[in-house]
Amino acid sequence: MDITKLKTVAEGAVDKYKEELNELSQAIWSVPELNFSEHSAHRVLTEFLEKAGLKVERNFILETGFRATYGDDDSSKPNICVICEYDALPEIGHACGHNLIAEVGVATGLAIKAAMNASQVPLGKVTVLGTPAEEGGGGKIDLINAKVFDDIDVAMMSHPSTYDYAKPPTPSINQLVDYRFDDRPYSSLISNKTIVGLFETNAAEAGIELWDEPDPRTGSTDMGNVSHVVPRIHPMYSIGGKAANHTKEFTTDSGSAVAQSFTLKQAKVLEYTALDIYSRPELLKQIKQDFIKDLKNALS
Ligand SMILES: [Zn+2]
Repeated sequence: MDITKLKTVAEGAVDKYKEELNELSQAIWSVPELNFSEHSAHRVLTEFLEKAGLKVERNFILETGFRATYGDDDSSKPNICVICEYDALPEIGHACGHNLIAEVGVATGLAIKAAMNASQVPLGKVTVLGTPAEEGGGGKIDLINAKVFDDIDVAMMSHPSTYDYAKPPTPSINQLVDYRFDDRPYSSLISNKTIVGLFETNAAEAGIELWDEPDPRTGSTDMGNVSHVVPRIHPMYSIGGKAANHTKEFTTDSGSAVAQSFTLKQAKVLEYTALDIYSRPELLKQIKQDFIKDLKNALS
């Protein structure tokens, strides 16, 4: 089956789960939980992924962490990781829209699974990783220390942001900057230019704009640390509102019906990007070469 057909299959899977994905996102949004205490989110996400046929490991490394996998263990094939975040902020709830990050992650995972089932040749493996405590807790640092990313080739996620937050869509390497947040050092973000290029092509096809920058108003992210151990992307996307992240208004936006179409479009772009990488081995080679070069630059 050619790549175009696989992408159609993947897209169909997201359409099929559209209502349930919205309910999942709403379930997380309506029970906002602080870092390392995301018990309800952990439960609904793992139940959903298990029901959808992925192999789920609950309480993975951290009490509210999880890992869900699908595909084959052949290490010569790519293992692509889609990251879910699901923690909220004190008093103002899901003011950073992490309920939508979780939705994008699950949607992308299900879409890739559907494409894997449709493909005549084994594509590899998909890992949907539940990473607690992005808001100051640095949950991903614990996962890195536990070597969770060692068998992962590429990591991806998409973060909701505000409509009028315009940044040039150029990939960036924030060198020489290490942020500090709540006593856990958050590293600079390294963006992989090959993955960014694929993402941009697929985003253009889907008719969306993107930025590949951390939102300066929300500070740094523990995805920066992940970017030092595995090639990854962390695009920001509009959810249709004008409010800035970490405001009450953004909480309203991240729970609104308007955010849904933007969020599912992101999943579409991520799954297309993943399918490109699964189907064309030369891309992963290039991604890894970029990564080694970027890391040298970032550390020099
Ligand atoms: Zn955030």
